[in-house]
Amino acid sequence: MVIKVIPVGLLSVNCSLLVDEESGEVLLVDPGAESHLLMRELEGLKPVGIVATHGHIDHVGQVKTLKELLDVPFYMHPLDIPLSNDPIWPGFDKQIGAQLPCPPPDVYLEDGMRIKLGKKTLRVLHTPGHTPGLCCLYAEEEGVLIAGDLLFKGSVGRWDLPGGDLNALRRSLRRVLEELPDDTLVVCGHYDETTLGHEKVFNPLLRQILSQ
Ligand SMILES: [Zn+2]
Ligand SMILES: [Zn+2]
Repeated sequence: MVIKVIPVGLLSVNCSLLVDEESGEVLLVDPGAESHLLMRELEGLKPVGIVATHGHIDHVGQVKTLKELLDVPFYMHPLDIPLSNDPIWPGFDKQIGAQLPCPPPDVYLEDGMRIKLGKKTLRVLHTPGHTPGLCCLYAEEEGVLIAGDLLFKGSVGRWDLPGGDLNALRRSLRRVLEELPDDTLVVCGHYDETTLGHEKVFNPLLRQILSQ
């Protein structure tokens, strides 16, 4: 599997293209903005689905457009449906290049579910806290976690936005750090990638939250 990360929009949301080289099948994760750019990247590939790690509009902003163009199922956790059409602040959707309304998911993500991509599979981890429905995708063979806004290099996901819950975030962070190996590469929802081991040592906010 090849994982290509493309930052899109004003908020630099990391849209990931998960590509199975053998079959050419590709999953798009978090297409928040700039669908024209993403469509160019998909040339010659077989899109099989769109996944949103969570329902914040910077992550689902182009699901509507891409679903119309590609005619593939949309995967999201049902608890985030109310968020996926909430601009949070008036005009925020236009500002960041989101095109609402976001359609409801065709397939509900749930913990432990596996999504097929060619002969490979991705495991879904339901890790609420930043939002009630936030899910990570884990590519075990590759050692890569697509984490959405759960964890960042040097920070963690905000819990003050609609649906946020610090206690749930703490449980989810603890779970991911305990279950997955330290050398797991983390593709964060925004900005730089990191590893779980690096964050265990160098992320003061993470350490503070886990110590509570
Ligand atoms: Zn978010
Ligand atoms: Zn985000």
